[in-house]
Amino acid sequence: MTTHKIIVAIDGHSSCGKSTIARALAVRFGYVFIDSGAMYRAVTLFALRRNLISDGKVMREELISLLPEIKIEFIYNPASQKSDMYLNGENVEEEIRQLLVSQNVSPVATIAEVRQAMVQLQQEMGRKKGIVMDGRDIGTVVFPDAELKFFVTASAEIRAKRRFDELSAKGETVSFEEILENIQERDRIDSTRAASPLRKADDALVLDNSFMTQEEQLDWVIRRVEECLKFKV
Ligand code: C5P
Repeated sequence: MTTHKIIVAIDGHSSCGKSTIARALAVRFGYVFIDSGAMYRAVTLFALRRNLISDGKVMREELISLLPEIKIEFIYNPASQKSDMYLNGENVEEEIRQLLVSQNVSPVATIAEVRQAMVQLQQEMGRKKGIVMDGRDIGTVVFPDAELKFFVTASAEIRAKRRFDELSAKGETVSFEEILENIQERDRIDSTRAASPLRKADDALVLDNSFMTQEEQLDWVIRRVEECLKFKV
């Protein structure tokens, strides 16, 4: 196998399994996996804890002034064999996945100063390449020169059903309608915001996984990476 390392950017709509694909791809090629959404979620959790969000409205200036106090790190968890998100030294991996955070993260992610701080950290993580990062602006803003870019999507109803099953299995009491609404609202805010809106990079490959199993998706993506690496030896 080639030792040449590339950057794989995976963008797309909310809850379409980008992180699952990205993580599996990273394991397959021995790359680092970064879930950039977890970083925006951690900033949102910080803002919620400081009462900087009420009724979906973020106190922008206060949050911006507190950005230097927010320390975000991914720390490997040998038990789960995954990296967990730490906010100022505390493992918040579980908490950032809760619906309350999902319902408030997109407004936080519209703030240009928050994005600047996250993008800087993300670019630093990709300096040595050999990285798979998923998010909304990875192929367009964070790594516009990434060797391989994917844009993942699926119908909103199918995405909501998958997320509903996932949260129900964890014991969270949520309704399907509430999740569907959250997914549609996040798509809307993410795609229409002024600062780095979600859009497909011109050179991204589209993966609509509405009717694909996880295995089929992974096979398809792995083949694209192998093809890309073949030309980079
Ligand atoms: O990927 P995930 O759904 O966990 O991301 C949570 C939210 O963070 C998204 O809905 C989006 O508002 C924001 N996000 C972003 N840019 C990224 C990753 C996530 O704006 N690169």
